[in-house]
Amino acid sequence: MHKTYQHQTVNDSDYTLNNILDVIVEGVWDWNGNTRNVTRSPGWYRMLGYDIAVFKDDVFTWENIIHPEDYPRVMHQFESYLAGEINLYQVEYRCKKSDGSYLWIVDRGAIIERNSDGSVARMIGAHHNIHEQVIAQNELVKQSSLLQDDHWSLEKIIEQKTHELAEKNAQLERKIIEIESMSNTDPLTKVANRKLFETELNKEIMRADRYQHPLTLAIFDIDKFKDINDKYGHKVGDAIICDICQLVESNIRDVDLLARWGGDEFVIIFPEQSQHQAHITSDKLRAIINQHQIEPDIFVTCSFGVAQYQPGDSINDLFQRVDHLLYVSKERGRNQVYS
Ligand code: GH3
Ligand code: MG
Repeated sequence: MHKTYQHQTVNDSDYTLNNILDVIVEGVWDWNGNTRNVTRSPGWYRMLGYDIAVFKDDVFTWENIIHPEDYPRVMHQFESYLAGEINLYQVEYRCKKSDGSYLWIVDRGAIIERNSDGSVARMIGAHHNIHEQVIAQNELVKQSSLLQDDHWSLEKIIEQKTHELAEKNAQLERKIIEIESMSNTDPLTKVANRKLFETELNKEIMRADRYQHPLTLAIFDIDKFKDINDKYGHKVGDAIICDICQLVESNIRDVDLLARWGGDEFVIIFPEQSQHQAHITSDKLRAIINQHQIEPDIFVTCSFGVAQYQPGDSINDLFQRVDHLLYVSKERGRNQVYS
């Protein structure tokens, strides 16, 4: 038994208790409120790595080893308990060890004796090492806050990826529309291609049959276009094809459909138009093309065949008739409309 742990006024039971406390690993303290003496068990010193009984047996020994950051909280708890404001003195804080590091402990204490004026005569308590627990707990808190951070950044990544995906989808949709329109339009002139023409002609034939309305088909071909290409080059030839398409497009109704059949050959569907009406329109187009100066000093002409749909005609029947009329137009001198 070390002297520091022996009360001046030891009785037998105190002596036994002190022996028990001596073998307890962790720290036990015993504060005499009247003498202001605090005795500490050897375990108290051992827990903090100090030589046993190295400090004075007073409260300042305790106060001096409390971590400065924890000190106000500990004192508040202690004073509240002494004042009877709380029923339990229990507080977790850090105590300075001999190597300068701090050890997390839980300090529990109870007043076991009061003076007649109500002041504390004796209070005993114990310091229990909870360092590993607190460190593990703090680590958990840190990890969970990291996880929280990760969670946020993950959400941001997902948000960004969703945005990117939506943008990609929009691009894809634009591409699909582009591809769809490419497959329906002639890449050079942007007018309907043969595929769209056939679809539309089928529809118009069905409409004509259903309502017994007239429907007329025209075909036209640039005259001597090989010569133009030879004389001015293929690029100029391309520009001429485009110009003719624009001229025709701007001089037909919205319901009429101009399509490129292929090469220098084009077709026009004239829904609700008789052969006569379509002939007039075609001749107007022929004249406009004829008068239009495409490039300085370049004039081109077109030959037209015009034929009205007859009930029972297949697309092929109609097409053969109109193609034949174009042939006639070419044969009879070009720059003409035959119906
Ligand atoms: P015709 O009056 O009998 O129609 O004589 P043509 O020289 O126009 O003869 P044809 O219609 O048989 O020849 C069409 C020419 O159109 C052949 C080809 O060189 C040219 N051609 C076809 N497609 C294109 C094109 O996309 N661009 C250019 N620049 N030329 C084309
Ligand atoms: Mg031609």
